[in-house]
Amino acid sequence: MAKIRINIATGSLQQEEMIVGIDLGTTNSLVAIIHPETKQPVVLKEYDGTALVPSVVHFGERGSITVGDEAKKYLITDPQNTIFSVKRLMGKSYNDIKEHSSFFTYKILDDDTDRLVKIQLGDRFYSPIELSSLILKELKNRAEHILKTSITRAVITVPAYFNDAQRQATRDAGKLAGLDVLRIVNEPTAASLAYGLGMKKEETKTVAVYDLGGGTFDISILRITNGIFEVLSTNGDTYLGGDDFDSAIAIHWQNQLNISDDQLRNDKSLAQSLRLRAEEAKIFLSSHSDFNSSVGDHIVGLKKDKFENLVRSFVERTISCCKNALQDAELSVADIDEVIMVGGSTRVPLVKEMVSEFFKKSLHDSMNPDEVVALGAA
Ligand code: ADP
Ligand code: MG
Repeated sequence: MAKIRINIATGSLQQEEMIVGIDLGTTNSLVAIIHPETKQPVVLKEYDGTALVPSVVHFGERGSITVGDEAKKYLITDPQNTIFSVKRLMGKSYNDIKEHSSFFTYKILDDDTDRLVKIQLGDRFYSPIELSSLILKELKNRAEHILKTSITRAVITVPAYFNDAQRQATRDAGKLAGLDVLRIVNEPTAASLAYGLGMKKEETKTVAVYDLGGGTFDISILRITNGIFEVLSTNGDTYLGGDDFDSAIAIHWQNQLNISDDQLRNDKSLAQSLRLRAEEAKIFLSSHSDFNSSVGDHIVGLKKDKFENLVRSFVERTISCCKNALQDAELSVADIDEVIMVGGSTRVPLVKEMVSEFFKKSLHDSMNPDEVVALGAA
């Protein structure tokens, strides 16, 4: 058999077929593989080190379509033509999402309320499957570019609570992107695998997977017996995540600077930089105690204590979900053997503190929380 050679650092690779693991996230997506030489999972990165691809698609004026960081720039400046959070629409009808319709800045058709939703962009209509396939296609292209080989087979992860329609929609999106989807794997299962749980035979463990992403919170209680994963319960809030932390900071600064809502509506670039700066502050405060910067002509700052006061109630809501999940699984905190932290927002120290305090345990948080799902999928 031909020897497989890969050198991700220099981007040269020669080999036959590779299966990729894809975390198709609400906010960010990424790809991981098993390194052919080390046999260890690794996340695929661009030359500049970025692995995460924002799950955002922008439709330009002349039919140009951009995905990822490029598209994210249009979220506030061209909201009607910028698709974000399409994962929330997978397998859903208008009736399913109507109470959250104001959340979406792009046009979701509301004429046929029981059928699967369609999104209108200019004079064209897209299904969430088609839009997700654009993200998957981008991931596929990037992976092929990095690995210098064609990619046709993938494992894609979904939330544990996804129903059959949502799983099928994800499979269809893969197919449309030119991927043979070998398996759909639950995100908490993938995260557990990344930490090596469930790899040993004759081991029974009860695991809580706490996943706080950009826009969603999921808590899953799993039982792993002899390598078989069983979902005992899931709970969470599909409209709670790091974006809420950003908004809280942005609103705090808006009030401090006496900027009116009208002013923000009319000055999209001010709104944009307020938002971006807020996320920057949040991320900075995960490893520092004081943030200072500017928004337009304004000086802004935020101390870690103040940030924690702004977001504490959101974290408390996640803890309530954890309580409910335990109750549904008919378990108590003492029954949980392991707690795994997933999602970029679990980098916030306050989140770790409150989760650890609730479960009365140290946490699995040594891996990058935004990479563990993809690594497990690989
Ligand atoms: P999803 O699974 O929802 O697609 P991710 O797991 O990638 O999303 O999480 C994205 C969220 O994580 C964003 O709100 C982002 O701002 C937040 N985030 C990323 N890094 C940090 C950090 N160092 N500190 C706090 N929040 C972070
Ligand atoms: Mg995720």
